[in-house]
Amino acid sequence: MNTFIEACQQAIGTEHVLTSAEDLAPYLRDQRGRYIGVACAVARPGTTEEVAQLVRLCQQYRVPIVPQGGNTGLVLGSVPDQSGTALLLSLRRLNRIRHIDPLNQTMTVEAGCILQNVQQAARDAKRLFPLSLGAEGSCTIGGNLSSNAGGTAVLRYGNSRELCLGLEVVTPQGDIWDGLRGLRKDNTGYDLRDLYIGAEGTLGIITAAVLKLFPQPVAIRTAFIALESVDHALQFLTLTQQRCSAALTGFELMSSFCLELVRRHFPETPPLFAQTYPQYVLLELSDHESESHANTLLETVIAHALQEGIVADAVVASSLSQSSALWQWRERIPLAQASEGKNIKHDISLPISRIADFVCDTDAQLKQRYPGVRLVTFGHLGDGNLHYNVAGPTDIPDHRFLENQQAINRLVHDNVHAYDGSISAEHGLGALKREEILRYKSPVEMQLMGQIKQALDPHHLMNPGKVL
Ligand SMILES: Cc1cc2nc3c(=O)[nH]c(=O)nc-3n(C[C@H](O)[C@H](O)[C@H](O)COP(=O)(O)OP(=O)(O)OC[C@H]3O[C@@H](n4cnc5c(N)ncnc54)[C@H](O)[C@@H]3O)c2cc1C
Repeated sequence: MNTFIEACQQAIGTEHVLTSAEDLAPYLRDQRGRYIGVACAVARPGTTEEVAQLVRLCQQYRVPIVPQGGNTGLVLGSVPDQSGTALLLSLRRLNRIRHIDPLNQTMTVEAGCILQNVQQAARDAKRLFPLSLGAEGSCTIGGNLSSNAGGTAVLRYGNSRELCLGLEVVTPQGDIWDGLRGLRKDNTGYDLRDLYIGAEGTLGIITAAVLKLFPQPVAIRTAFIALESVDHALQFLTLTQQRCSAALTGFELMSSFCLELVRRHFPETPPLFAQTYPQYVLLELSDHESESHANTLLETVIAHALQEGIVADAVVASSLSQSSALWQWRERIPLAQASEGKNIKHDISLPISRIADFVCDTDAQLKQRYPGVRLVTFGHLGDGNLHYNVAGPTDIPDHRFLENQQAINRLVHDNVHAYDGSISAEHGLGALKREEILRYKSPVEMQLMGQIKQALDPHHLMNPGKVL
């Protein structure tokens, strides 16, 4: 192992190969603090060529590689196992914005660029890069693409996959595939780009990407809507889609209990409505015509929904600061639920038409089997993605309630499957769900995935123990 580490040091410089326990510690700890992995070293290459050299060394010495971006992933994908044999490859020094082409509406960025910096660079070029999620201050483009991250604007712009036109990848053999094409049409064989996106580092290392840019909206309007049920939220979604079409860029659902948690743990948050309602939606419209067009669009759709009895009440932001205050309610839910205690999390997606029935059925089954259980349900309703989290009754200590984790996962995931949904909407499989997925994907699908892995990475050195 020492010879391997010395060879890595020679390839990229001693200062970029970390070996002391103290230096390694922040890279080995999972985002939620549930798990600490072990690695032989952390390598921090600064160029694509350096990544390729390291991968070739890993092949030569048969050392497994765990790629890591911002380490904000939620499924234990970016941390190594306990064997201590893996090299953790941090891509964070690959952080250059290589090129912006405003006419082609694209930007070419390296994998270690922080998402927020990419958004800002797009803004500086008077364009929009629409990927947006809670960890945007620390997650990287390489990690976003490798986990095909979703976020809050998927219903208008799509997942990371839809936002990427081309990739540069270091293959498991240490070759560099330059697929940095800024083309919207390119039917020249198998789409290798789509293979690497969402592969969670199991097929190669993404080192750069061509991203799609969009025109910046001239006006953004936000409103908080109170509703009687998830079914009403879905009716309101249909109405806004009909009336606002592409202007609809955010549609986030939150249950009453989510807001109660935010009030409890962030008491400075001012109340929104005089009374509580069972469900709420945070609605965002992005308008490309004018401020007054945006106002009319929003006011008309809300007025119509109130008149039809689809929504119960609404608060409309009239300034940028009011709009960010409304978004704070949504953004504080994960923090508030963490302060409340531990809970059993599920990142699921369902056909939008079946969400209301799924929630109704699954809530009822959980409440019957675990009396006093508290459901923290929120998510990106506009694209069918719910964070369906289960907290224990207040009179049972967290560690005792967590003994039910497996049984609760089974109940929720079986219901998701029965309703034709997915047990991982946007976070991926990582090490956390790779066993669980075997229950829901067909043997044919698993076999095809295994064959692709075997063809590209026959020695199984790329992020072993993840996905498959
Ligand atoms: C507060 C918070 C909010 C979040 N909100 C969302 C959300 O709304 N939507 C969503 O989808 N996710 C969300 N996430 C999850 C996470 O932020 C995303 O999955 C993010 O895309 C991960 O990026 P990262 O750079 O941190 O990747 P990492 O965590 O470092 O890695 C993620 C996976 O990609 C692999 N990988 C990383 N870089 C590369 C590379 N260059 N080449 C090959 N493989 C690589 C890793 O091995 C790992 O398997 C959230 C996380 C937090 C903490």
